[in-house]
Amino acid sequence: MPLLEVRELVVALKKDDKTINAVDNISFSINEGEIIGLAGETGCGKTLAALSIAGLLPQKAKVLSGEIIYNGRQLTSLSEKDYCNIRGKEISMIFQEVRQSLNPLLRVGRQIREALELGSAAPLKLSDRASCKIRVLEMLRLLGFNEPKKIYNAYPHQLSGGMCQRIMAAIAAISRPRLLLADEPSSSLDAESQENILSMLTEMNQKQKTSVLIISHDLSIIRQFCSRFFIMYAGKIVEEGQSSALYSPLHPYTQALIGAIPGKDKRGKDLENIPGKVPSVEDNFTGCPFAPRCKKAQKKCEETFPSATETESGKVYCFFPNTGGGNG
Ligand code: SF4
Repeated sequence: MPLLEVRELVVALKKDDKTINAVDNISFSINEGEIIGLAGETGCGKTLAALSIAGLLPQKAKVLSGEIIYNGRQLTSLSEKDYCNIRGKEISMIFQEVRQSLNPLLRVGRQIREALELGSAAPLKLSDRASCKIRVLEMLRLLGFNEPKKIYNAYPHQLSGGMCQRIMAAIAAISRPRLLLADEPSSSLDAESQENILSMLTEMNQKQKTSVLIISHDLSIIRQFCSRFFIMYAGKIVEEGQSSALYSPLHPYTQALIGAIPGKDKRGKDLENIPGKVPSVEDNFTGCPFAPRCKKAQKKCEETFPSATETESGKVYCFFPNTGGGNG
């Protein structure tokens, strides 16, 4: 049985008098100890999908239908009180908006320590607090801070954006959750900070069997760290499979995302640019939402959304998928 199963999930956003499906009938699962990737450009519904798993949807959004089953429990019908017993302990999330997620008035060490104390079943004694601090310092070292004591006592405004992102990762990881949702955990970081966060996720996965959902627009990260991938476009999953299939993507959107990854083999060449932009959630389309940007689009594509075609390792939702030639 998978640790997490998302079945036909629809998340609606309220805008003025309208209700729009920003996540539209998506299904995926994560096995115990597995790392999977959810990819796509900004605005495709990835973050909303993760927030619905963590029970942290903004007020204007709600799960309209579908199921989220974690460890045999249906999360969509959980009370806030029951969610609090799971969130931060069994399911944690690394948020994208680090500056907004950290408390500017508290030293970062205390914020990480509080996350650890929250995960403890009984109130902590002073001796436990001391051991908590040791664990926090170890975690800071693991995340590449050479002077963990100094960082422990710093306030968020004294740290760079990359350092705050690593603090956010420490808060999410310190209580050793079974499932970690990492929303763009390494975006806009320098190479070293990126490496530190991704190594921490890999180490948690290998040593503690933590299952990880990595959300990213960068398919090179998904290809390197995840066993399976799911590509989202305009709220829908358009391709899924084993990450090795990303070397020969079938959906034109996946192929365009791969073409946009810089790499040694592309030195001196132009990176692929996906023309146009992701449709707004308010746009109504009856057919394939990628059609206005797709080089292969034909009349049929504008009329109906393609149903799934089974592939060697997963599924693709396209009338005219690529034939599997290598890319990237
Ligand atoms: S269904 Fe048509 S428009 Fe959509 S990705 Fe495939 S070829 Fe392009």
